[in-house]
Amino acid sequence: MAGEGEGPAIGIDLGTTYSCVAVWQHDRVEVIVNDQGNRTTPSYVAFTEKERLVGEAAKNQVARNPTNSIFDAKRLIGRRFSDSLVQNDIKLWPFKVIEGPSDKPMIVVNYKGEEKHFAAEEISSMVLKKMREIAEAYLSTTVKNVVVTVPAYFNDLQRKATKDSGGIAGLNVMRIINEPTAAAIAYGLDKVAIDKKNVLIFDLGGGTADVSLLTIDDGTFEVKAVAGDTHLGGEDFDNRMLKHFVEIFKRQHKKDISGNARALRRLRTACERAKRILSSAAETTIEVDSLDNGIDFSSSITRARFAELNMDLFKKSIELVEKCLIDAKMDKGGVHDVVLTGGSSRIPKVQQLLQDFFDGKQLNKSINPDEAVAYGAAVQAANLAGMGNEKVQNIVLLDVTPLSLGINANGGCMSVVIPRNTAIPTKIEHDYTTAFDNQTSALYQVYEGERARVVDNNWLGEFTLSPIPAAPQGIAQMKVCFEIDANGILKVSAMEKTTGVSYSITITNYKASLSTEEIHRMVLDAKKYEVEDDKHRKKAKAKEALENYAYKMKSIVNDKEIGDELDAAGKEKIEAAIKHVIAWLDGIQHVEADEFEDKLIGLELICNPIIAKKSRRQ
Ligand code: ADP
Ligand code: MG
Repeated sequence: MAGEGEGPAIGIDLGTTYSCVAVWQHDRVEVIVNDQGNRTTPSYVAFTEKERLVGEAAKNQVARNPTNSIFDAKRLIGRRFSDSLVQNDIKLWPFKVIEGPSDKPMIVVNYKGEEKHFAAEEISSMVLKKMREIAEAYLSTTVKNVVVTVPAYFNDLQRKATKDSGGIAGLNVMRIINEPTAAAIAYGLDKVAIDKKNVLIFDLGGGTADVSLLTIDDGTFEVKAVAGDTHLGGEDFDNRMLKHFVEIFKRQHKKDISGNARALRRLRTACERAKRILSSAAETTIEVDSLDNGIDFSSSITRARFAELNMDLFKKSIELVEKCLIDAKMDKGGVHDVVLTGGSSRIPKVQQLLQDFFDGKQLNKSINPDEAVAYGAAVQAANLAGMGNEKVQNIVLLDVTPLSLGINANGGCMSVVIPRNTAIPTKIEHDYTTAFDNQTSALYQVYEGERARVVDNNWLGEFTLSPIPAAPQGIAQMKVCFEIDANGILKVSAMEKTTGVSYSITITNYKASLSTEEIHRMVLDAKKYEVEDDKHRKKAKAKEALENYAYKMKSIVNDKEIGDELDAAGKEKIEAAIKHVIAWLDGIQHVEADEFEDKLIGLELICNPIIAKKSRRQ
């Protein structure tokens, strides 16, 4: 069932700000730690003069390299450059995004002194690859099969683009599932035997807030309604705290640092750390050495002050809960469980507001909020790969379409084919006819959204059905079919019925999504970058080995006991050789790994016999 070969199947929560990977092993889910020992990894990719960095290493160097450090690729994926959301985000990002072919946004970076353009799919593929490597290091085997999660509101193009990212990373994406569904799996796995339950998933992450209502019934998960804010999350809270401390600094030192980008970034990092601490402590201190012009900054903040700075934002997240319930036509009393997910749902004030909204109801915190989504994805991966226990195998997912899907009919009206909240996979057919006499072709424009006029909705793509037999208006009969597969990816086809001649086309050929050739090229590029990364690592290792050896020899000859036992000529010879190597190391610019290796061999040939002679003498 896994599709491609054997081996473990992993679940990846590809987050806007942080990603997380988990696997089903030893009859349970294991969340996998990265090379820094952390259970979540920043969704960051950075390009430097020398190398490409992904994850922690990329995020750690942002302050030094803001224009080539890429994050938020999830906000771009599957979207058009002209999309107003994209335009607004571009204004906030330190990196450059330009209009590529077919209105596709392209990220511009400088990598090894050259300008490079990347699609959001490529950046996400680098993050996915990193998560895969984290899993492979832990499992000591190659991993090919994955389940990747996306927000419930992601449309067809965003889902397809996410799937393409997996393909570029060389992964077999078995399934794309909704994040709230994954969180619900994590929550509901042990409760499948109990009666039908309505569960509200409250996901407050780094950049977005998503509220979903699901029903869980005998192992079946069904999304009933979703509500969200694409710009509400932990980063906004960091920014509020940042502004607060910029003011404090101004008061303390009569200096405004709001124009000092580097200082702001360092202060923001300190704010995020303080924010996390305030989820468990009532007060904390911020300290940044030499923040501006050598001035050390130190100040404290209480949990209450932090909550006050963000109260309007916290309240906004609770309003989403109200909206979701209205949409699901459910009274808050009908919710059996409120499940917290997303790192920011750890904030005590947010939890309190949520609990108050539900009239004091106990919130469900049985799952780790940062890991719930990856946990659920790992369970689903095990399910699809035919692994896991009976409980895992009995899970059935029922997702719904977050928005209505339809076509432009009667000159600008939205004719809905698949209504919002329809369970997927689904296939729905509608009959249409011609609007004019002797029409020989028909244009089908596909939209998603709830508004009556298509101009107010989201255009997904279009195609022309041709030829159709010329006839008076209203005679020709066209059957239009909308089909959404288990990944939530839409295909639209149309057929002319009267003549029996059928003609169909799929909407996934939408021009701004990647073509097979483009994906192929990106796969090759990804391999190329990997080779370069390897080369860089090898070079760094060879350089380190040479340096280590040179300094080791230096300390040996300088050592009172050992050094003094060497004969003067030998000692001099070693010292000269080391001096030469260190001077060479200081002056080099573009040197390959084998040159370091050659230098090391040369140095060893000089030093080792002299040292050995001394040992023999001993
Ligand atoms: P994403 O939105 O990318 O899915 P997450 O759900 O992992 O991200 O949430 C990341 C956000 O959670 C970040 O803004 C981080 O600062 C915040 N966060 C993590 N741990 C805590 C905590 N203990 N208290 C408050 N916020 C936290
Ligand atoms: Mg998330």
